[in-house]
Amino acid sequence: MSISENLLRLKTKIPTSVTLIAVSKTKSETEILDAYHCGQRHFGENKVQETVKKYENLPKDIYWHFIGHLQTNKVKHIAPFIHLIHGVDSFKLFQEIDKQAQKFNRILNCLLQFHIAREDTKFGFDFEECQAMLYLEDFKALKHIKICGVMGMATFTDDVTQQHQEFATLKVIFENLKTGYFKHFEDFNIISMGMSEDYETAIAEGSTMVRIGSAIFGERG
Ligand SMILES: *Cc1c(COP(=O)(O)O)cnc(C)c1O
Repeated sequence: MSISENLLRLKTKIPTSVTLIAVSKTKSETEILDAYHCGQRHFGENKVQETVKKYENLPKDIYWHFIGHLQTNKVKHIAPFIHLIHGVDSFKLFQEIDKQAQKFNRILNCLLQFHIAREDTKFGFDFEECQAMLYLEDFKALKHIKICGVMGMATFTDDVTQQHQEFATLKVIFENLKTGYFKHFEDFNIISMGMSEDYETAIAEGSTMVRIGSAIFGERG
């Protein structure tokens, strides 16, 4: 199926209240433009150089989402234009994002990444660790970041019950923060969870933003 057919089919399955990020990593600018001409404006990338190059060459009304692991020394390259950074999981990274945002006179939108998968990965906060950071005076002093919600990835598995549980865990974390630390933050609203293989499960568990690549652009080489 073509990119436009894939997008149309997905739009029948995703409620309009859920934002669709088209994950275009490794895909060509021509393929991105195909999706763009179908009205798609949110695209996700996970490599800094690739994101910068695509930003420079493609229409300027695209919203670029950085969904990969971001190294502190590379924040400066995406700071001028990035719309939302999904995977922030350390105080050190927030400090650097704040510093670069200030330099470019911007406030950068970020999501707190949580480790919800049972499988071992290096990335993502656990809840206590995140809480501890949020209440640091040095963290509260960062004025050029805006935390818009949470992000997580479920275990890559056929076990749908397990995926439900892991997404439900992220939803609980979101609610705890929304009624706790972020009680007075109107912009804390995003739950970024769900990919090509598990977005329906994620939406059933409360996702507000899905990151879908292969179901739009086909398998990556
Ligand atoms: C690649 C990637 C996706 C999209 O994966 P698909 O299975 O192709 O939909 C979503 N989120 C993150 C963080 C990714 O790296």
